[in-house]
Amino acid sequence: MPLSVTFDSARRTKPDALALPLFDDQPWPTFSALSAKDRAWLADWRRTKTFRPDRGQALLVHPTPKLPLLLLGLGAPKLLDAQAARLAGANLTRLAQRAGLSRVELVLPPQLNTPTLAHAFGQGAVLAGLRFDEFKSPSEPPASSRLRIEVHQSKWLAAVKQGALVSTSANLARRLAATPPNIAHPRAIADACRKMAREVGLRIKVITAPQLRRLGMNGLWSVGRAGSREPCLIVLEHRGKPGKSQTAPVVLVGKAVTYDTGGYSLKTAEGQRGMKYDKCGGMAVLGALHAAATLKIPTPVVGLIAVAENMVDRRAYRVDDILTLYNGLKVEITNTDAEGRLILADALTYACRTYKPAALIDLATLTGGVGVALGQACAGLFVTDPKLRQKLLDAGNAAHERLWELPLWPEHRELLRSDHADLVNSAGRLAHPIQGAAFLSHFVGKNGSPEAWQDRSWAHLDIAYVAAVDKPTPLFDVGPTAFGVRLLTHLVQHWHG
Ligand SMILES: [Zn+2]
Repeated sequence: MPLSVTFDSARRTKPDALALPLFDDQPWPTFSALSAKDRAWLADWRRTKTFRPDRGQALLVHPTPKLPLLLLGLGAPKLLDAQAARLAGANLTRLAQRAGLSRVELVLPPQLNTPTLAHAFGQGAVLAGLRFDEFKSPSEPPASSRLRIEVHQSKWLAAVKQGALVSTSANLARRLAATPPNIAHPRAIADACRKMAREVGLRIKVITAPQLRRLGMNGLWSVGRAGSREPCLIVLEHRGKPGKSQTAPVVLVGKAVTYDTGGYSLKTAEGQRGMKYDKCGGMAVLGALHAAATLKIPTPVVGLIAVAENMVDRRAYRVDDILTLYNGLKVEITNTDAEGRLILADALTYACRTYKPAALIDLATLTGGVGVALGQACAGLFVTDPKLRQKLLDAGNAAHERLWELPLWPEHRELLRSDHADLVNSAGRLAHPIQGAAFLSHFVGKNGSPEAWQDRSWAHLDIAYVAAVDKPTPLFDVGPTAFGVRLLTHLVQHWHG
């Protein structure tokens, strides 16, 4: 069960515990919230113990009389940034959860009292509250399902609540992304989007499989046609502030392959594990739209989620098939495991034809190659527009969902030439992550055409190695991270500066 983490103003009655964010290399503050006895105990304890409040370190201590203290390390004061605050928020939740506490008063040092740090603290506290235990038989009743974090400063409270809301959206995306493929099939994803849209007031349209066929979205239709449920394109619209609805929307496009066997270019047994996470790009778009609606962001935002299950049966598409995609380009299939770009291609064309995007940004767990190139500390970024590049890099740094740019040049588009069609969908291992971006670039020009692609304000984020973690981290339990939700929410929230 997810822990419900809320922030509120401090009450008069005694909380279960006090949380004390602490700096390294500094005298600890005197904490007027502590009784003289507890203060003396803490000073004594500090003399005899070696706990250092480094960034990301935390400890629960029990002075007498019994008011537990949550010591949250912030590290050196001169290195204090949003990520240090985010980790402290996460540690507060983890310690409280472990100790079964349901009301904790947070005693703020003045340095932490800024809206940016409050926002990050709220993000961390809520992200750390999610455990993926929905499918585990409960071994013991949970100590508490609610955590109320109380603070005195009302300005801080407003900002921390905003951060918490962003992570609530991210947690929604994480839970869906973690749901196994026998349950989270394409139809279930569409149902989840409908429910979410109703709850937060987004417009929704689901383009069904027969409509995909009729429209000529053969990339999405072909990839998903052997799935246990039919593919679809989900369109979510956040209208923004009345009056701003006339302004061009930021359009987000996500790959949601609910399970990727690789198709006839079958993955190895080991390679199949974790392929339920191949829907993480789409889930990040869902989370970002949820955040745009709940935070009432003025900028209009559109989310397109291309949903399909890549399976093997007699209806499945094959290697050597030539498909005519939505923009008319003919694509020779050289690898059925390079399916993400086919479904994204149709969604990108739809975006270019239906909207006049202020910016077009797609997210996908697209290539293994991006992990070889960049590891797990950042996602791969491909971008045509210098202004959008800067906005994305800034948003990525603010959210600590960092991006690193890789090149995308006309030479890379040459890699995808086909002898028998316009393009192949995969050309081997050379420049693997760039190939994915180069393929997509053929679908973002005028009306989704291959021409003038550099004129489109477009970015592609390859999130294949940051979408989930396989070891617990300070912020995340093992499983999906919803990489992109915090970044995109920051981006659209600060779109007009
Ligand atoms: Zn694949």
